[in-house]
Amino acid sequence: MQNKRKKLIIGNWKMFKDAIQASADFQTLSDNVAAKNLSIEVGVAAPSIFLADLARKTRNTVSLFAQNAHWAEEGAFTGEVSPAMLKSIHVLGSLVAHSERRQMFAETNQTAGARISALLNHGMRAVYCVGETLAEREKGLLKEILVTQLEQAFVASKIRNSQTFVGSDPNKPLLSIAYEPVWAIGTGKAASAVEAQEAHTIIRTFLLNYFGDEIGNQFQILYGGSVKANNVSEFINCPNIDGALVGGASLVPKDFLELCMKSSN
Ligand code: PEP
Repeated sequence: MQNKRKKLIIGNWKMFKDAIQASADFQTLSDNVAAKNLSIEVGVAAPSIFLADLARKTRNTVSLFAQNAHWAEEGAFTGEVSPAMLKSIHVLGSLVAHSERRQMFAETNQTAGARISALLNHGMRAVYCVGETLAEREKGLLKEILVTQLEQAFVASKIRNSQTFVGSDPNKPLLSIAYEPVWAIGTGKAASAVEAQEAHTIIRTFLLNYFGDEIGNQFQILYGGSVKANNVSEFINCPNIDGALVGGASLVPKDFLELCMKSSN
């Protein structure tokens, strides 16, 4: 079971590109992924304003994600986008609680749980981002931080039925976890494979305890933090590292494609 998880590589475009660039880059990516017959799933988390246009271009070759989704079905939430809206334009799911949202937009484990719940209840995918700051790591708090981020969000999601977290496609479980040490994001200083594996093992152990072996083993755990074409192989071949969430190195299609090809066997 453990080795059967499909690898997933998601490019996080953050708040970069304009409409013309986003459209052209996505087309290039989509055409090349279709031509290469990769063994992995390739995704892009794009700014929400571009998603409707990009959704028309995917031809199911590149999985399209939002970078954030609100927890409510609808309502007076100026500036927000709901899972139902995203679903209506064929977006598959969303990142949840990226560290930039935790740091700058008051995201908490509880709001993350509400977002996860809203997405899953629509049969959509949630890529829940967790990770420690450098100060937390240096204080020896890695395990405590990761377990708290996971537990509080899952409790806040109020989902009682574990199967809701998994969905019906074993290659694309609805919940994925992205381990992103804050000190490695956008810094050019990736975690070592040993450091990443230690964190992924903590996360996997938590998932197995929380959901039981059968379900806990199905979730993909992605590593994120300064992953590039020249270091992705260090991570992708480790047990319990099921893919990557890639920021800077996903912005240029040629570089991202190279990274994806190195992740595919
Ligand atoms: C990210 O934005 O999730 C990320 C990991 O960024 P980078 O790859 O640039 O470190």
